[in-house]
Amino acid sequence: MGTRGFIGIKNKGKITGYYNHYDSYYESLGRQILEFYYNGNSIIGALDEERQRINKDSKFLRDGLYCEYGYVYNKNDDTLEVYRGFFKQKQLLEKSDTDYYVHLVFVIDRKIHSKELALKAFDAYSLDSEDKRYYPERSVINVCTGCWKPIEVDKRYHDKKCENKAIIGDI
Ligand SMILES: [Zn+2]
Repeated sequence: MGTRGFIGIKNKGKITGYYNHYDSYYESLGRQILEFYYNGNSIIGALDEERQRINKDSKFLRDGLYCEYGYVYNKNDDTLEVYRGFFKQKQLLEKSDTDYYVHLVFVIDRKIHSKELALKAFDAYSLDSEDKRYYPERSVINVCTGCWKPIEVDKRYHDKKCENKAIIGDI
């Protein structure tokens, strides 16, 4: 069985992209996507049509049951959004037909995060791990819990305004 995922582009808040059938986890597709992102190439290029079975399917990122990993390049601020599925609680994305949700787990910004750091964030999450926190990746790269923007490693909010409006507690 494949590890299904999504790879796409976000432009002005709208995400379009592709369903990816095999090896969507961090160690495989995730690492390839990091290479493309840090080299300044379109992450869509990480889809090898011979190896991956891909279909244009912009809705798949909302399928919390089957979409296990998602990678979205945000064109407007040059960041890479990383998603995981199979969460029982709702987060940002609307639910599909199932009771499972896809969450935005963390956001990589190559202006403030090195590639080594991004790889370390991937390594922080493992299916076999005893770590039952939702987002162990965030122990390496956090996001602002007020606005979901990427932040430097030692910060919790990117500014005072976000600190005041943060309603999503630490998970
Ligand atoms: Zn913020």
